[in-house]
Amino acid sequence: MITAVLPTYNRAKISFERGEGMRVFTAEGEAYLDFGGGVAVTSCGHAHPHLVKALTEQAKKIWHTSNIYQMPGQEKLAQRLIEATFADTVFFTNSGAEALECSIKMARKYHAAKGQPERFRLITFEGAFHGRTLATIAAGGQAKYLEGFGPKVEGFDQIAFGDFEALKAAIGPETAGILIEPIQGEGGVRPVPTESLRAMRAMCDEHGILLILDEVQCGVGRTGKFFAHEWAGITPDIMAVAKGIGGGFPLGACLATENAAQGMTAGTHGSTYGGNPLATAVGNAVLDVVLEKGFLDNVQRRALGLKQKLARLKDEHPTIIEDIRGSGLMMGIKCKVPNTEFQATAMEHKLLTIAAGDNVIRLLPPLIVNDDDITEAVHKLEMTCRSLEAKPK
Ligand SMILES: *Cc1c(COP(=O)(O)O)cnc(C)c1O
Repeated sequence: MITAVLPTYNRAKISFERGEGMRVFTAEGEAYLDFGGGVAVTSCGHAHPHLVKALTEQAKKIWHTSNIYQMPGQEKLAQRLIEATFADTVFFTNSGAEALECSIKMARKYHAAKGQPERFRLITFEGAFHGRTLATIAAGGQAKYLEGFGPKVEGFDQIAFGDFEALKAAIGPETAGILIEPIQGEGGVRPVPTESLRAMRAMCDEHGILLILDEVQCGVGRTGKFFAHEWAGITPDIMAVAKGIGGGFPLGACLATENAAQGMTAGTHGSTYGGNPLATAVGNAVLDVVLEKGFLDNVQRRALGLKQKLARLKDEHPTIIEDIRGSGLMMGIKCKVPNTEFQATAMEHKLLTIAAGDNVIRLLPPLIVNDDDITEAVHKLEMTCRSLEAKPK
């Protein structure tokens, strides 16, 4: 018999009743150290007092009005994002996939508005993940997500990750832009080299096409900069954001330059909930935390400590760990044992992690993680490795 909840997830047999900072608790009161962050979502940890206050205070005032009215909280959040980034304008959504949908539509509309509607194709990369809508599964191009869902949405040309010659060759008269995650998340924590991002920026400028970054997972402080592309010293034309920006409240955003957004006039796009008063009250509270002076420096410092400890772990457990990769607090452990087994064993040691493609385990802790939490997490990883080593082959 089918489960009450559509069975599209292979769920672990555990649930959490409450969370506090870096930890979540079962109904029996068992504590788990959260190095998954609900897949990079709980950027400020669980039940952060400032976020709880923002949410509850807004909840007492008004939850929802509509985008047919002015929304001061939404304008404030947009203004702050503009001031802190390359962007001139922001569209708010409820999820990452919707932020990507807006990005894709905007890129197509840009060329249409300039009299070149035939320029609607986007170049994407093998291993990419952009969401689960019909357009974003086409953009991601992964067979396992496309199969059985009818014809693939037209307009996405996928090339191998890191294949620069293929990228050059793929740009044609119908190309609208390049869509890429600066660090592939679901694909297995694969960072795009900064030189490649710079070269892509140059290519886009040369061909008059748009650079669209998907920073849904790697953005909002995850790498120790507000957005990951800042490490490369480049800016995109359009950027999709979600996950960490809501700290657990469903919120996403499509950020763009005025030039890239020129086709998006009144009536061209919309969302019922996107950027409603409750969501943007939380979004503003997240920015209070993440953009506070010194916060991102702290993320960088803590991330360095984590990286060094993980490197040692790899050296000490060569039969379990093949490689350590990633940036900031978005780290990947490429396993020699099945990553699902690693994840389950880590959970036995009360550590939450997230599996990814390429047999990788992701560590995506809340950005408020401190040195003691990192020491504890690495200790749990150490015990995980030992448990796996002790298992009969
Ligand atoms: C999670 C994710 C998405 C999709 O976000 P949803 O909120 O699940 O729609 C898109 N791109 C990247 C890089 C992601 O990590």
